[in-house]
Amino acid sequence: MYKHILFATDLTEDTDYLIAKVRAIRGFTGAKLSIIHVVEPLPGYSYAYLGIEDIEGQLVTESKQSMEKLASQLNVNRADQFVEIGPTKTKILKIAGEVGADLIICGSHGRHGLSLLLGSTANAILHGAKCDVLTVRLPEEQAS
Ligand code: AMP
Repeated sequence: MYKHILFATDLTEDTDYLIAKVRAIRGFTGAKLSIIHVVEPLPGYSYAYLGIEDIEGQLVTESKQSMEKLASQLNVNRADQFVEIGPTKTKILKIAGEVGADLIICGSHGRHGLSLLLGSTANAILHGAKCDVLTVRLPEEQAS
């Protein structure tokens, strides 16, 4: 069975939905668990435009804080938490290879229109991964 699961999280509220499944799958496989969140770099001009010096640094700091909370909920060691900067798909696949993950777990939104044409992160992971991928269908957003 699976020995090393990599949980890819965007650290949004969707994560709460995924935690229960990640925990259960880890429980019955006895696998090691790593978690990854990727911060996509903004183009250089946006910093000046927004008048913010180090928005990327701030995003990374906030992401690390959220990651630590999530990691404590899932009992994941510091060494197995990854906050990376770069293109999401590339970084997830790179870390999956480096840690020797044999299962990647990610969420998947129902898509239509333009976002269907552009493709999802889940799709990109699925097509590039060298290991199994579990895409968990996320609940539809409720119109408010
Ligand atoms: P999306 O296709 O962008 O709606 O995301 C679907 C799933 O891809 C999310 O539920 C996460 O599992 C994963 N994902 C999206 N963005 C990131 C990110 N920045 N870092 C890590 N995983 C992500």
